[in-house]
Amino acid sequence: MSVLPFEQAYEAVQRYCQKLTPTGHESVSLLEAPGRVLAEPVLADRDFPPFPRSARDGYAIHASDVKTVPAQLRVVGQVKAGGSYEKIVARGEAVEIMTGAAVPEGANAVVMVEHTKCNGEHLEVLRSLTEGENIVPRGSEARAGQEIIRLGTRIGFAQIAITAAVGRTRPSVYKKPRVAILATGDELVDVAALPSAHQIRNSNTYSLAAQVIIAGGNPVLLPVAPDDKAALNQLIQEGFSSDLLLLSGGVSMGKFDLVEEVLTDLGASFIFTGVQIQPGRPVVFGEVRSTPFFGLPGNPVSTMVTFDLFARPVLQALGGAFPVRLPTVKARLGKDFKTKTGLTRFLPALLRGGLYDPEVETIGWQGSGDASAAARADCYMIIPPDRESIGAGETVSVLLRPS
Ligand code: AMP
Ligand code: MG
Repeated sequence: MSVLPFEQAYEAVQRYCQKLTPTGHESVSLLEAPGRVLAEPVLADRDFPPFPRSARDGYAIHASDVKTVPAQLRVVGQVKAGGSYEKIVARGEAVEIMTGAAVPEGANAVVMVEHTKCNGEHLEVLRSLTEGENIVPRGSEARAGQEIIRLGTRIGFAQIAITAAVGRTRPSVYKKPRVAILATGDELVDVAALPSAHQIRNSNTYSLAAQVIIAGGNPVLLPVAPDDKAALNQLIQEGFSSDLLLLSGGVSMGKFDLVEEVLTDLGASFIFTGVQIQPGRPVVFGEVRSTPFFGLPGNPVSTMVTFDLFARPVLQALGGAFPVRLPTVKARLGKDFKTKTGLTRFLPALLRGGLYDPEVETIGWQGSGDASAAARADCYMIIPPDRESIGAGETVSVLLRPS
């Protein structure tokens, strides 16, 4: 038995992730790319911007012509985005220019249209400018050939913008890891079935599948395993044909919690068999012949929290992503809070307040079986193990939910 404090368990997972390698790669279209992980760096195919770019609508001029203002200049041409002005701008001249257009040669500043008065060819400039003002220099965002996005980056919309801008229509991404999901428990019936009074529907298979999909994996749904060693053994073995096996239920101390026993029979080595957290204390992590597994506790909120804390990083490492820190922010506690010491707590909560003063409030819940509380929450408030009361107005950490 090794029950670890949260930090140690989290570190053990991070260390384990370092030895994982993705299973292969493929090319996808830009529309299929969101959420995938880059299997190649994205390089600039030319300088960005490819020309000195005007950041304003206005006039391209010589800064030295407007040292004293008002200054009088002559408008000699126009350049719009996508166009060009072929001559060199001479002293005393101005070229009308639009945002995003290439600043013509000779000019070294762009005066905003708001700071000018124009009458036909005659331009009066009302403000003086420094050299380079309102011009984004060629190559200042990235030089041709320079790496803009690192291999192993998860592709979001900003990465799509760059991939598109450099002309990579089918980026190479890592294969999605296959994640077997095996719910265990004699009390479970299929979601489509009508449960008898003492049965419950198997919701964990689907909440886990959702978390797997959001984290970038392909869920492989196994049938529910009864609390029976032989049947469990069979289904767990089936689960190990995937890249990662997630079990739900059967890891607590009850008489019919058989998951650890069966995993041991299958030659498992355990990295931890519990973590000092709430919810999710009985969570189990290990591997069988190099295939990782998690035995997640069956109470729905425990299942969700332990997936986010421990299984998600492993899934993403299998998918080639480099590690990212847990998404936490600081917020002011809305109401006094009391608990017991000893466990790091991740409690369903709501993030409120304004832009500069986020506030967090826990949701009243009936414990780790209360999936309704999780469904009303949008984050988890983190209570360190040494705190038994936190006063309203104090700052606490909040774990955001990945989406
Ligand atoms: P266990 O971790 O097996 O002791 O399960 C604890 C409790 O979690 C069970 O009594 C059920 O109420 C609930 N539970 C277990 N598995 C599931 C599941 N697949 N879907 C929904 N609830 C579950
Ligand atoms: Mg059970």
